[in-house]
Amino acid sequence: MAQQHDLIIIGAGPGGYVAAIRAAQLGLNVACVEEAPALGGTCLRVGCIPSKALLESSELYAQARHELAAHGIVVENVRLDLPAMMRRKDQVVTMLTKGVAALLRKNNVTHYAGHGRLAGAHRVVVTGSQGETELQAEHILIATGSRSADLPGVVVDGDRIGTSTEALAFSSVPEHLVVIGAGYIGLEMAAVWSRLGAKVTVLEYLDRILPGMDSELAAEAQKLFAKSGIEFRLSSRVTAARVEGEGCVVECAGAEPIRCSRVLLAVGRVPNTEGLGLESVGIQTDAKGCIPVNEHFATSAPGVYAIGDVIGGAMLAHKAEEEGIACVEHLVTGYGHVNYDAIPAVVYTMPEIASVGKTEDQLKEAGTPYRKGVFPFRGNGRARALGHVDGFVKMLAHAETDRILGVHIIGPRAGDLIAEAAAAIEFGASSEDVARTSHAHPTLAEAMKEAALAVDQRAIHV
Ligand code: NAD
Repeated sequence: MAQQHDLIIIGAGPGGYVAAIRAAQLGLNVACVEEAPALGGTCLRVGCIPSKALLESSELYAQARHELAAHGIVVENVRLDLPAMMRRKDQVVTMLTKGVAALLRKNNVTHYAGHGRLAGAHRVVVTGSQGETELQAEHILIATGSRSADLPGVVVDGDRIGTSTEALAFSSVPEHLVVIGAGYIGLEMAAVWSRLGAKVTVLEYLDRILPGMDSELAAEAQKLFAKSGIEFRLSSRVTAARVEGEGCVVECAGAEPIRCSRVLLAVGRVPNTEGLGLESVGIQTDAKGCIPVNEHFATSAPGVYAIGDVIGGAMLAHKAEEEGIACVEHLVTGYGHVNYDAIPAVVYTMPEIASVGKTEDQLKEAGTPYRKGVFPFRGNGRARALGHVDGFVKMLAHAETDRILGVHIIGPRAGDLIAEAAAAIEFGASSEDVARTSHAHPTLAEAMKEAALAVDQRAIHV
């Protein structure tokens, strides 16, 4: 006899578990199926959260070594205790994954531990340690996320040559780490291990880092990361990487092979659809392996929906959350949408990099008339007091309507500052609206107001 629910969600990452809670709030009887030993998905277990814990710890270590003296704080014999740093990271993760389990219980969401697979219309079979359990529901939501993409010729051994999962748990600081791919993961992990003392070389196929981000921002980021000691080799197409003797060898087209101690492969992620039983309901994936959906996240199979990394687009936890909420709200209330122009993206390096809306490159390509205001953090009093004056805020507004089209920040706490820009875009604000909004002094947020003023050539502190 199948267990009956209104909605079965496969995957308890930020997309799936948030959708489960929202659906339960809306009165549905919800099941959430997860095969990993802990809830929270890649983001909580082996992605956003552990990487942020290590970024924070490694930044403090770097500050103790290089920056505190300028504040008149003398710290001698600064020493790295990597096992303790890793334990702290693990504790942060454990606390949060347990928190997700508690939230699901509080909202009466039934958690099934095991691998979920579609088994015909309205049916899901969960294979767990106790055998198979059959579930039945009117609606099924696929939120299975993504996994690291492979690269032909690169033999991932899960030890010396690994993905972000391994790079979040190295047992010692590599002497020389080669990172393949200058995207989000590559840069965040390069920052962690370079601060902890590794020599880091980043190999990137394109002639720039952070493809998709505003190119002016990416160029500034590359300059600052290079200054911090990370080596970049752009236009480098990696053709092979293998373990050889005590180390690894990485081969790039048209260049000398590089010998190093460890390799991180970070060339993107691919949707998780294998073993999902999509064929049982007639769903076909697209050329990129994503599940095609309409604007309400409905797949081609009646009653089956999909959100998050598995449907493509920006592979971001908060994008998956928005989609999960919009999907279940639409199911229950008939309303629910996602404004993709107001979804921010953040790279948590030092300085941080954050973007929302259109890039300058996109506006040029579309022929959209725009005005641009840039304000450097060196003109901001709080940035001076912090001792972090690198970077700028760039605001792009429509030349005729003044509506804010995009905001791009590189600098201290950019990831927090971008929230104001996302809210402004969501509300359809003009640069004049932000320029006329009082911002507390002295705060980093004043740089946003100044960038808005700069759109109209009237910034004060430049
Ligand atoms: P990415 O798409 O951000 O970057 C991959 C990089 O690898 C690109 O620059 C690409 O040009 C390069 N590349 C591809 N093939 C190559 C080759 N043969 N040789 C050298 N370089 C090559 O992917 P990622 O960094 O792996 O991140 C995956 C996903 O995870 C992203 O979609 C990202 O949004 C998400 N993520 C987000 C955050 C965050 O929000 N802070 C952090 C980590 C990951």
